[in-house]
Amino acid sequence: MLTFEEARRKVIEQLGVRKGPRATEQVRVGDALGYVLAQEVKTDREYPPFNRATRDGYAVFAADAKAGATLKCTGEIKAGDRVTKELWAETCVQIMTGAAVPSGADAVVMIEHTKRDGDEVRFERAAVTGQNFVPRGSEARAGQTLLTPGMRLGYAELALAAQVGAADLKCAQKPRVAILSTGDEIVPVDSVPGRFQIRNSNSVSLAAQVRLAGGRPVLLGNAMDREDDLSSKIRRGVQEDLLVLSGGVSMGKYDLVEKVLREMETEFYFDAVAIRPGKPAVFGKCGETFVFGLPGNPVSTMVTFELFVAPAVDLLSGAEARPLPLVEARLGEALHEKTGVTHFLPARVAGQGGNLEVVVLKWQGSGDVAALAKANCYVLVPADTERIEAGEKVTVLLRRDVL
Ligand code: AMP
Ligand code: MG
Repeated sequence: MLTFEEARRKVIEQLGVRKGPRATEQVRVGDALGYVLAQEVKTDREYPPFNRATRDGYAVFAADAKAGATLKCTGEIKAGDRVTKELWAETCVQIMTGAAVPSGADAVVMIEHTKRDGDEVRFERAAVTGQNFVPRGSEARAGQTLLTPGMRLGYAELALAAQVGAADLKCAQKPRVAILSTGDEIVPVDSVPGRFQIRNSNSVSLAAQVRLAGGRPVLLGNAMDREDDLSSKIRRGVQEDLLVLSGGVSMGKYDLVEKVLREMETEFYFDAVAIRPGKPAVFGKCGETFVFGLPGNPVSTMVTFELFVAPAVDLLSGAEARPLPLVEARLGEALHEKTGVTHFLPARVAGQGGNLEVVVLKWQGSGDVAALAKANCYVLVPADTERIEAGEKVTVLLRRDVL
């Protein structure tokens, strides 16, 4: 059986083979969060476009503003003011943060280091050439490429595009991810379940995880545990860029997903992973479409999505697979688990920087969504580890959506 690292590598290997460029769409810069860029974004001019003051103070010739010197202030420059006049020797100009330093001036002295009396400004310490302004063109040259195809657009990338006037961005279309839950016991979330029925929460969590991963969920509802219903809905699902199923991949008599996929000549890359929860997860290719069969217990579905489906959505989006958000933390209370599989235990991490502490939450196993809703991470217990003492370092997988 594959370890979760090996299984992830299989996914990345399979989806990493590029099938040519993705179709693109124009997206307004304000709406492009989470898209993957499909164009270059270049500067329209130099940045900054003028020598920009970074402090409120006085623009000076550094040679004039010696410690103890007094200079006459001849005016002021606010951010946005057109600056045409040069600075004269033995004078200074009051200047605000973000304003253009007048030509000739080679330093800005912070207002905190001066004393003003009418037009006279006294300098308490010597100015240093180049101080407190960003020279024109030092952040970026005109026509310089700042963003390249394949970059994922986060808030900083969007700000940069906006700054250089890229109001519309050519982006890769988000991959369409079909979501199909399975199970005779599953009913829609807006219905009242019979005593032995269960609302379809997996389609909701999967759609949210697809969105977070950068995909577009396509909800196909639920298939009954019958070969005919499964095969017709799977046939519909493989028309999208990716198909994710929940349930029906365990060893039970009515777990038919793998059987139906096999009959549809699916090529499997794995059909179990040495993890808990999530061991029965399967990954294959049916026709031209990659398919994941995730176990139906809600926490298993969520964990296996994070581990295996998220990198697939990244790669289908035209970006690289993001690494798992793993950090180290000190374990709050000792724990004990069976060996042979890597455990992912719902937990809460708190603290700062190199001083994180993590506490595993009490839970009733992989059906316990209430426990997971209190968790902000999972503690990993490696397959060969039976016991971890309080205070020992453990690896923690962060929940990207709440941390
Ligand atoms: P399965 O993997 O099909 O054996 O499902 C295991 C358990 O997960 C079931 O007994 C249900 O309790 C639960 N489950 C399966 N599918 C869903 C779903 N779509 N939404 C919520 N819970 C589910
Ligand atoms: Mg089932």
